[in-house]
Amino acid sequence: QCVAVCPTGALTERDSSAKVMDAIVDPKKTVIVQTAPAVRAALGEEFGMEAGTLVTGKMVSALRKLGFDHVFDTDFAADLTIMEEGTELLGRLGKHLAGDKDVKLPILTSCCPGWVNFFEHQFPDMIDIPSTAKSPQQMFGAIAKTYFADQLKQKREDVVVVSVMPCLAKKYECARDEFKVDGDPDVNLSISTRELAQMIRNANLNFEALEEDDFDQPLGESTGAAVIFGTTGGVIEAAVRTAYEVHTKKPLPKLDFEELRGFEGIRSATIDFDGLPINIGIAHGLGNARKLLEDIRAGKSQFHAIEIMACPGGCIGGGGQPYHHGDVEVLKKRQHAIYEEDKGKVLRKSHENPFVQKLYSEFLGEPCGHKSHELLHTHYYDKKKKIEI
Ligand code: SF4
Repeated sequence: QCVAVCPTGALTERDSSAKVMDAIVDPKKTVIVQTAPAVRAALGEEFGMEAGTLVTGKMVSALRKLGFDHVFDTDFAADLTIMEEGTELLGRLGKHLAGDKDVKLPILTSCCPGWVNFFEHQFPDMIDIPSTAKSPQQMFGAIAKTYFADQLKQKREDVVVVSVMPCLAKKYECARDEFKVDGDPDVNLSISTRELAQMIRNANLNFEALEEDDFDQPLGESTGAAVIFGTTGGVIEAAVRTAYEVHTKKPLPKLDFEELRGFEGIRSATIDFDGLPINIGIAHGLGNARKLLEDIRAGKSQFHAIEIMACPGGCIGGGGQPYHHGDVEVLKKRQHAIYEEDKGKVLRKSHENPFVQKLYSEFLGEPCGHKSHELLHTHYYDKKKKIEI
């Protein structure tokens, strides 16, 4: 079944949980785990809970009991992604408005490795259009193995980063050469939501009875904007929340952009940036992505920014999630859980994350600055010419 839903052609699902346990019991290793936003909206289904039950606190508790040294949140890096991608969007828009004919618009989101793999193979003539921002999984790994390893006073090779993802394509993403330093991957191992559930069962933990627990700091702090990365439309909504305030220097009149939400395969909306209309496109599913890309290639696209996610519904419907057998009602319940988590957050805009602000002031400098480019941005390949992995 995973083959049917995994858009990258990851033909077999390789179980990495035994390697994760080997790292945890190795006394020389510090093992850090990060969990993607969509995992908390679906993990409970593996333990008989209703679809859409949010299990963030129980999941953190389970990860701690499994023996991870630091339990962090990919959402932290999702906030970081918005800082970088939002800055890139505003930079390209500014040049466009100044009359630069060479600037590439629309900017395309780049956080989904299934989608990245698709455009590298199918649209290699357009690889300079997507944002160069790495995905949250990879930004997290790059920061964990530099900034956080320094705080721990540990060498990067003694730090093992594990990700829990709704996604099988993330296993392929962390194996890409450009996300390694001297052969050491920024993210060592990626396991799916289903693999985590199996690890919890193997450890005989009574998941439903676990106490709620909180993520560790500093890489566990996140805003509501990061949470909504887990569903279609969420990445671009998060980007709009930050880009609007950075561009207009005014607080957003409203935080919920209903016009960007929903389940139609292709959606569009125009958001008023205080007099500047920004045209946004959204596609989920690669067939829908293809239609928007063909419009861009033909010079017919009116969009300034487009979010594309390979899986139906975005990551809530990822190939590593509990099987939902194509039931859209299950996806809608998971999506509802994601929006509820966003609503419940004190901070809901990525640029307000205090630990992200601290990371820039202490370590990175500024969004899209020199150090950010080195650690948080990537490049793409024409896979028709060169097979990288
Ligand atoms: Fe993975 Fe999410 Fe992309 Fe699906 S939409 S391939 S789960 S990153």
